[in-house]
Amino acid sequence: MEIPRCDFAFIGGSSTLSLDITKDLGLDWVKTEKAGMIFQTPFGDSPEFILLSLETEAEPRKILTCRMHGWRRGVSRADASRQVFWVLQSAGVKKIIAEGGVGAINHLLRPRDLVIPHDYIDVSMRKDVGLGERYLMIMREALCPRIRKIILDTAEKYWNKRVFDRGIYVNTDGRHFESPAEVNMFKMAGGDLVGQSLCPEVYLAREIGACYAGLYMVVNYAEGIVSPWQHEELTDIFNNEALNMASLIMECLRILPAEGICTCQELRKDTLLKKVYE
Ligand SMILES: [Zn+2]
Repeated sequence: MEIPRCDFAFIGGSSTLSLDITKDLGLDWVKTEKAGMIFQTPFGDSPEFILLSLETEAEPRKILTCRMHGWRRGVSRADASRQVFWVLQSAGVKKIIAEGGVGAINHLLRPRDLVIPHDYIDVSMRKDVGLGERYLMIMREALCPRIRKIILDTAEKYWNKRVFDRGIYVNTDGRHFESPAEVNMFKMAGGDLVGQSLCPEVYLAREIGACYAGLYMVVNYAEGIVSPWQHEELTDIFNNEALNMASLIMECLRILPAEGICTCQELRKDTLLKKVYE
């Protein structure tokens, strides 16, 4: 199947996992152009992609979307991430928005807060996940400041709960949650949130030359912070906030400028190790 050209992508995480965006949101300016697209990649068949079309004041805008991609049986998280970003690269995607649920390490946060992280600490074991060896990736301002600003402005308009414009996201491997001692270590290291869906995506986005940022909803306290989390509350948040989260993301994608005033492009350089790999 041919990969459609597209400037924008949305990677859905745990908050929007169960949604059919077009049907469930019922927004007349969001349409499904094509669903059920699976592409062949050098890393195996991709997860299912959907091509959305958003009406804007100018031309309708195409958005390539896929869901949380680590959950297919027999496909490793690393391969799934490579498949997704190989497709996004082939489509020519320039701007990516991701979302997910996170645990609060910072005790000032509480469930249903929205955080737009500005930096991260990767404690996963997957740091070598890439598409090739061509580039040297600088992870300064890894979360595009321009997209973050647009998410912030949009969230302040539409999200009727608290929004934080910065935070340090600690990325763990999962699938289990973290132990109280681990969370305490992350806290001492300066982490505000803990989750499993920012890395390796942030590296892969840099590698394909795309801007990347995400918005993350606090769904529980991390172990040992404030109070033990309740499964009922977690379920309630997922069920009741998914639609709000998805419509907020659609609003962001609708107004995101195609050409960014940011320095993301300059933070990817040709590798100095070229000779070694040739
Ligand atoms: Zn950028």
